[in-house]
Amino acid sequence: MSKGNIGVTSDNIFPVIKKFLYSDHEIFLRELISNAVDATTKLKTLSSVGEVKGDLGDLRVRVSIDKAKKTLTVSDHGIGMTAEEVDKYINQIAFSGAEEFLNQYKDKTEAIIGHFGLGFYSAFMVSKKVEIFSQSYKEDAKAVHWSCEGNPEYTMEDTIKSERGTDIVLHIDDEFSQYLEDATIEGLLKKYCKFLPVEIAFGKKKEWKDGKEVELDEENIINDINPAWTRKPADLKDEDYDKFYHELYPTQMDEPLFHIHLNVDYPFNLTGILYFPKIKSNLDVHRNKIQLYCNQVYVTDEVENIVPKYLTLLHGVIDSPDIPLNVSRSYLQSDNNVKKISGYITKKVADKLAELYKADKEDFAKKWDDIKMFIQFGMLTDEKFYEKAKDFALYKNLDGKYATLEEYKAQVKDAQTDKDGNLVLLYTNDPDAHYTYIERAKAKGYDVLLMDGELDVHAMSQAEQKSEEGKLRFVRIDSDTIENLIRKEETAKDTFSDEQKEGLRKAFEGLLPSAEDKLRYFVTCEAAAADALPVFLTQNEFMRRMKEMSAHQQGMSFYGQMPDQYNLVINTAHPLIQELVAKETSEQVEEEVEKKAEKEGEEPKKETVIKTVCKLEGEDERIKQLIDIALLASGQLKGEALAKFVNRSVELL
Ligand code: ADP
Repeated sequence: MSKGNIGVTSDNIFPVIKKFLYSDHEIFLRELISNAVDATTKLKTLSSVGEVKGDLGDLRVRVSIDKAKKTLTVSDHGIGMTAEEVDKYINQIAFSGAEEFLNQYKDKTEAIIGHFGLGFYSAFMVSKKVEIFSQSYKEDAKAVHWSCEGNPEYTMEDTIKSERGTDIVLHIDDEFSQYLEDATIEGLLKKYCKFLPVEIAFGKKKEWKDGKEVELDEENIINDINPAWTRKPADLKDEDYDKFYHELYPTQMDEPLFHIHLNVDYPFNLTGILYFPKIKSNLDVHRNKIQLYCNQVYVTDEVENIVPKYLTLLHGVIDSPDIPLNVSRSYLQSDNNVKKISGYITKKVADKLAELYKADKEDFAKKWDDIKMFIQFGMLTDEKFYEKAKDFALYKNLDGKYATLEEYKAQVKDAQTDKDGNLVLLYTNDPDAHYTYIERAKAKGYDVLLMDGELDVHAMSQAEQKSEEGKLRFVRIDSDTIENLIRKEETAKDTFSDEQKEGLRKAFEGLLPSAEDKLRYFVTCEAAAADALPVFLTQNEFMRRMKEMSAHQQGMSFYGQMPDQYNLVINTAHPLIQELVAKETSEQVEEEVEKKAEKEGEEPKKETVIKTVCKLEGEDERIKQLIDIALLASGQLKGEALAKFVNRSVELL
């Protein structure tokens, strides 16, 4: 038996392992099983090139718990290690990388926690003692037994081991007794080992028989050694992809909309399958995330720094040995390989979408509502994706017809270009609330888009900014009179004098239901059209949009805090308003002004007195009714005001 010191310079490395990696103890199992799988794969390789002769026999990796001895054992039938190799790989080298890393990040705990694998030594996170029993595949090699109790001293001696391969025996610390529970270990194996390329066995298969769980003879195999992403796309049918999707996310009931099989080997290695899910709620997005693997070993489902943010809405797997895992997250973002990978995935996703769109436009349109948020998110955050996606991003009108922006522009160009050459696209986010406005637009032969998605306002602003010479404008159907939204020729001038209009304005303003309403509704006069409502509400497109966008963006809270404001437009072209003014316009003012001037001993100025003023005396009820109708048409008449309106209407009848 030999004794020695593990080749590390810092004595305190073991406490450091325990302390620094506190939040991620469980990865020890992944590390040990990865080593076992590597040793098995190496053996297969050696056999395939003829260096290992004969039948390789049983190659399963087995994980077992001995509750009495408080041990957890990982056994493989891989290449094994000779005493020299244990000395070299375990005593000397294995640790140097870890030590270097720990020195570098001593003060940054969070940088270490996470993806950094300590390899074999992570076993000491949960064990008071670790033993290795190994028999190398090499002829004449003696089996070796290594043992270490979580300090820099180890012992090594010859031993007898009947089978080729390695057993790693962990004597679990009392503090970590959960790792002696079947359920915990099975859970971890399912998390980290589900798709490893060598079979992992844990206990026996169980079955329910007569209301009891009974053990079968058959071993319980944890993993699928040939997951779909490692196979050739040509060998897979749509059903296989769907099946694999459910293997990945057992609780997900819906089928994915479509998938993309990724496969590159230059300039980096990457395989994987991405799925477009039916996103029903935010919850799905957070639960079923893209899983990152490294040679079929599960690493993490925190892929934010590896794929662009909008792609994290997708589901699926990415497997790449070229993503550096043992570095801090902020470093990942600046890593060149990671940047290339992210660019590649963006391109693949965009190309696939373009291909689906070209292949079957109707089918693509059917899926649009489900993928829209994802594509808009991508277009808004990634210029390269925007460039590709603008050719298949769709807009839907109120008849449920879909078109790309270019197609749609061509369709409505003739009718909806205003006198200044701006193409005005009309939209609604609430067809019921905007019913009257929509009807008026349709009557003029205009088309109206349905834009009720979460990112629609942003998408429209982007399309406007990208349009040539800024000649494209989206306006919500209720943001002004339809005549003003798409101005065709100089709008008809009304016949009222400024004073008459001011009189009208004052009269209406004075009769708004409440004091707050004076801040909320800004009363104006406009000659809209004889067949429009006599009084109606509009809301400025710019202000409203800023407010909506501020809900999603930081630094825009100024807009978010502003109250909603509307224009209460008195339609001076409407017969009712004209009648009101005609009846009430008087020239009494002339006398009054004259009297006043006399009193003050002045000559009345003729030109100021001969003015017609709209006094609207005794018309309060009618005006109130007109205001209420405008509010009602916009769904803003509620509560007491609504009750009053109903009563007044009955009285008027
Ligand atoms: P890494 O796997 O990253 O190289 P580890 O500390 O996990 O680092 O292992 C160090 C080395 O020990 C491995 O590279 C391998 O040569 C050897 N080793 C570890 N476990 C086994 C095993 N089960 N069978 C054979 N060799 C092993």
